Amino acid sequence: MNIVVCVKQVPDTTEVRLDPKTNTLIREGVPSIINPDDLSGLEVALRIKDQDPENVKVYALSMGPNQAEYALREALAMGADEAILVSDRAFGGADTWATSCTITAAIEHIDYDLVIAGRQAIDGDTAQVGPQIARHLNIPAISYAEDVKVEDGKVIVKRQFEDRYHILEADMPLLITTLAECAQPRYMTIRGIYEAQEKPITVWGLKDIEDKLDLSNIGLKGSPTRVKQSFPKQGKAAGVLLTDLTADEAAQAILAKLKEKYII
Ligand SMILES: Cc1cc2nc3c(=O)[nH]c(=O)nc-3n(C[C@H](O)[C@H](O)[C@H](O)COP(=O)(O)OP(=O)(O)OC[C@H]3O[C@@H](n4cnc5c(N)ncnc54)[C@H](O)[C@@H]3O)c2cc1C
Repeated sequence: MNIVVCVKQVPDTTEVRLDPKTNTLIREGVPSIINPDDLSGLEVALRIKDQDPENVKVYALSMGPNQAEYALREALAMGADEAILVSDRAFGGADTWATSCTITAAIEHIDYDLVIAGRQAIDGDTAQVGPQIARHLNIPAISYAEDVKVEDGKVIVKRQFEDRYHILEADMPLLITTLAECAQPRYMTIRGIYEAQEKPITVWGLKDIEDKLDLSNIGLKGSPTRVKQSFPKQGKAAGVLLTDLTADEAAQAILAKLKEKYII
């Protein structure tokens, strides 16, 4: 059984701060990490492999610039068998459509049974790439996985909804998008880190996957959406402190304010 885990390298958005003078993001010194939902997806794949190490192979696949190699080395150090970096200038500036088309073309070069993506990347935050890949591959998708098991060749997923869960059973091939809380990722081992430095990373450029690509669907030119402007949200205005009110008057004042803002 072959599992492909999509791993995106992202800036650690918990470390991104705003410059109070210019109101712009301070990116310097912000570490790059594996997207948290993807780390959990990788852990899911490694647990499936732990059950049957001889017959399960885990591929970590990332699309990005050369530096995404660090995320892939981390995946190898955790226990992934192979790492594939999809990288080419032609893929730059892609929106979710172009990203998913490109990643799909790469996956089509792998004999996959299960594809795992994170629910959402903490930088782009769209949660679109996983389901789009499933659509392009023409396989079913189960998103928002909170627990994943493979039993007797079937994949059993606990899918989270706002107010309930569904337990779904599916055949492969299948795509799952995992939540960060799906599986606590294991630490890299010292030996794993050492060996990951020696392992080769396969790099696929446009030439390697173009047989599965429609070239009008890649990079900035193949992106139906464009980020037109990007700016920080304005800070909220200072609150108003009402004093010397009875409990009833306080409740009325709060209700009036909520109505004024169309919250209720
Ligand atoms: C220069 C530049 C220009 C951009 N221009 C646009 C634009 O014009 N319009 C627009 O909409 N967006 C634009 N983006 C954002 C970019 O499209 C998104 O970062 C990308 O499409 C992925 O979407 P997301 O981060 O929301 O991922 P999500 O859909 O939230 O990711 C879900 C999951 O998909 C997988 N995944 C996503 N991306 C990758 C990847 N690269 N490699 C491996 N797995 C991945 C991961 O498993 C991830 O957890 C631009 C980005 C750059 C750097």
